Amino acid sequence: MYDLHIHSKYSDGSTDIESILKKAKERNLKVIAIADHSVEHRFGLTESKAKKRQEEIERYSSKYDVEVLSAVECGILHDGEIVLPDFTFDLVLASIHTQLPAEEYYDRILKCINRYEIDVLAHLHSQLFGSVNELPERDMEIIDVLIENDVALEINSTHDAPPDDFLILCRRKKLRYSIGSDSHVLNGVGNVERAVRKAKMYLSSGKFLLDGK
Ligand SMILES: [Zn+2]
Ligand SMILES: [Zn+2]
Repeated sequence: MYDLHIHSKYSDGSTDIESILKKAKERNLKVIAIADHSVEHRFGLTESKAKKRQEEIERYSSKYDVEVLSAVECGILHDGEIVLPDFTFDLVLASIHTQLPAEEYYDRILKCINRYEIDVLAHLHSQLFGSVNELPERDMEIIDVLIENDVALEINSTHDAPPDDFLILCRRKKLRYSIGSDSHVLNGVGNVERAVRKAKMYLSSGKFLLDGK
């Protein structure tokens, strides 16, 4: 099993790297990604924090024998912009963390995917950020742009996003997908059952993020 979206103390999570790895081992996770918020966030991952986090990741991933990807979650800003610290990550996630009017929401996402080499679009249409006014024709646009750019759609179990009516549109599409808990606390690490179930239900024509990449 995989959990490719976990926050640590290096951003706004409450858990240190060793505890996350220990929990991942207990829960039999094969690969995890520690994905802290990027620098636009108040507690975001600066360059020096990213380096320090990397040392810990390397130390504990061999101790607990869990493969760990070094990831970052960038908020998608005005005009689709994302901001990254000067560090080479294994995975770059991008997501909306602001309440926006529907058109602006879609514009930012489409621009971001076309403009940057991101790996994962995280928690699309999370209710937390008010994206309830979905526009089906623009949803199709997002799906096409994801496929064109080989960007994975994340199935996020904490946000329960994307919602089923979006996932229905993804059926039979050759879409790459990722699985993430978006855990900010120790007990959330590996809580991905719901996401795995949805991936099976809706994305069986697609491909898991780590397959053949
Ligand atoms: Zn997020
Ligand atoms: Zn997150």
